[in-house]
Amino acid sequence: MQYQSTRNKSIAITSAQAIKQGLSVEGGLFVPDSIPKVSIEEIAGLKNMNYRERAEFILSRYLTDFTAEELKYCVENAYTKEKFETDNIAPVYKLDDKAYFLELWHGPTCAFKDMALQILPYLLTTSMKKTDENDEVVILVATSGDTGKAALEGFRDVSGTRIVVFYPDNGVSEIQKLQMITQEGDNVSVCAIKGNFDDAQSGVKKIFSDGAYKELLAANRFKLSSANSINWGRLVPQIVYYFSAYADMLKADEITLGEKINVVVPTGNFGNILASYYAYQMGLPVNKFICASNKNNVLTDFIKTGKYNKNRDFHTTISPSMDILISSNLERFLYHLSDRDDKLVAEMMNKLNTEGEYEVSKEIFDRMTELFAAGCTDDEATLAAIKKCSEENGYVMDTHTAVAKSVYDNYAAETGDTTKTIIASTASPFKFNQSVLIALGGTAAVAGKDEFTLLTELSERSGMKIPQSLASLKTKPKLYTSVCEKSEMIEVVNDFLQI
Ligand SMILES: *Cc1c(COP(=O)(O)O)cnc(C)c1O
Repeated sequence: MQYQSTRNKSIAITSAQAIKQGLSVEGGLFVPDSIPKVSIEEIAGLKNMNYRERAEFILSRYLTDFTAEELKYCVENAYTKEKFETDNIAPVYKLDDKAYFLELWHGPTCAFKDMALQILPYLLTTSMKKTDENDEVVILVATSGDTGKAALEGFRDVSGTRIVVFYPDNGVSEIQKLQMITQEGDNVSVCAIKGNFDDAQSGVKKIFSDGAYKELLAANRFKLSSANSINWGRLVPQIVYYFSAYADMLKADEITLGEKINVVVPTGNFGNILASYYAYQMGLPVNKFICASNKNNVLTDFIKTGKYNKNRDFHTTISPSMDILISSNLERFLYHLSDRDDKLVAEMMNKLNTEGEYEVSKEIFDRMTELFAAGCTDDEATLAAIKKCSEENGYVMDTHTAVAKSVYDNYAAETGDTTKTIIASTASPFKFNQSVLIALGGTAAVAGKDEFTLLTELSERSGMKIPQSLASLKTKPKLYTSVCEKSEMIEVVNDFLQI
């Protein structure tokens, strides 16, 4: 299998090259030149495999230039019981006779980004070796919270890699900050910058586009890379858990082989829901995809009208990982929906860049709406969904998952669709403890309490155990307390690399 770019389909490179490169030179994203098929018998066969075996099976269909040993090495280092606090890695929780939560937050940072960022470092270092690249990889990340920590945990102590994370000094939650400044590992560095997320992001972009700096790094045997969600190496691991969930439901006799299910995903960058669409293209029986957004509802409007328009107000919500106006993985979806029309995709992306909007043809719109539904919800309804689900089902959701549940409830009420439905549960409620406690007990439940009191309080109210990785933050030494000017980011990297 070869990989082509969404903006130039004459490009043909291996998956290792695509993962190493991240983004194509003309700005497009890498996609496989055909979608591998999985037969219904093979899906049935997944029932008797554990998560690691399922991952090897699915990944081998896309990373065809990786040997079986290489894939095994990547998967077995990423999805361990030790890191995920469960051997099930991505368990399915039955809520009622229709709805099931696919829990993607049992990894070390308590959010679904771990599903991809635990394996990406191994895919990346293996790709480097396979393409005769012997320099050490230096990962630079600008984060608004979740991605930085997940990348740090993924890359820590992975040989042949170093990672530097920049976060806005006053732009992340207390728990997120604690998670980052107590980070362990000999190859990591974390620095706060005086500025907001955009400042951190532009600073990192500036370093990436500095040709002279690239040469200096190369002379010192370093090569810059990023861990962002447009890399194929982050998307492909996400396809696995949709098959895994289906296999678990089959195994528990919740569905019969071949029965179609719905998939609901709380969406930001369109990566997670796109992975489920790839699973469908491969042969997973899916009836409808339901794309859930918060008040930043650019995708809801797009799916309902065919017009993408980012020229609108940006809202800060209680589901911050979905506060996005440009969903970069949508580009891959448009490429597939248009039967791989690279010229058209390049045109639409160019329009998005210059005018902030584009519209798809009637044909693409019809294809999309045949499979995709969408809905959005505001903070108030999100909090109400958490309270209702806790009272009626005894299950406590985080704010992102609650957006999905709320949108799903509206969808089911409007359509009468009773198809069995998987709702992607993307974060542990403990990670967003403040909002979850407000949902359950009102603002009085949180007033004047520190983070660790909130964790204990949430544990008491939900009957759930505090994840070890959050509980242990209380006693971990604070290793990274420096704050730099946004103009000093390159010096921070140089200090760390000792060049
Ligand atoms: C990143 C994230 C999302 C959004 O996922 P996309 O793949 O960007 O659509 C949803 N929930 C949580 C908790 C996240 O961290």
